[in-house]
Amino acid sequence: MKIVFATNNEHKLDEITKISRGKLEILSLSDINCHEEIPETGDTLKENALIKAKYVKDKFGLDCFADDTGLEVDALNNAPGIYSSRYAGPNCDPEDNMQKLLQDLQGLKNRKAQFRTVIALILNGKEYYFEGVVKGEIIHQKKGSNGFGYDPIFKPIGYDKTFGELPEKIKNSLSHRAIATQKLVDFLLKQKTEG
Ligand code: IMP
Repeated sequence: MKIVFATNNEHKLDEITKISRGKLEILSLSDINCHEEIPETGDTLKENALIKAKYVKDKFGLDCFADDTGLEVDALNNAPGIYSSRYAGPNCDPEDNMQKLLQDLQGLKNRKAQFRTVIALILNGKEYYFEGVVKGEIIHQKKGSNGFGYDPIFKPIGYDKTFGELPEKIKNSLSHRAIATQKLVDFLLKQKTEG
């Protein structure tokens, strides 16, 4: 079963290869010579993931899946959500995003947050969705330098360390993306044995 993952992110490609133990043949966007930036114009993670998967299906005629992730903060009505990568503005970096979030939460008691990943899959003309959530809280100051994005200020429930402090192996075993990816892989492997 050959399927496209609408990404060129090496970390994501490596993660799915590890989770599927090499049992699925996954092609990246560059493997299919798709070099354009696919616009994410949806209003939800689900819409954005579907837009990317549909783009590949429509243009290349290949079965495809795509993901989208956001940090959802309870006291901010689930912001930054789909705007997580550009929360502090169009040309901002992760540091700017974290500083804006810490500022927006100043004085608020409720610091609950979650990372949520949605994967949209188009397979044999049907759409499927897989979700992964990890709940936690936004701490008051950055801790640790592992990972990326908001990792230094996000502490998952049940741990006394942030994603920025936890070893990469532990974060990757409990992350939102790992949960969604595992669900997708289980589904695809089942299709493979049944098909
Ligand atoms: P993407 O959909 O995987 O590109 O993620 C969108 C944005 O969400 C990223 O640019 C980060 O700001 C944030 N993000 C996603 N996953 C993580 C994570 O595991 N840790 C920290 N931030 C993340």
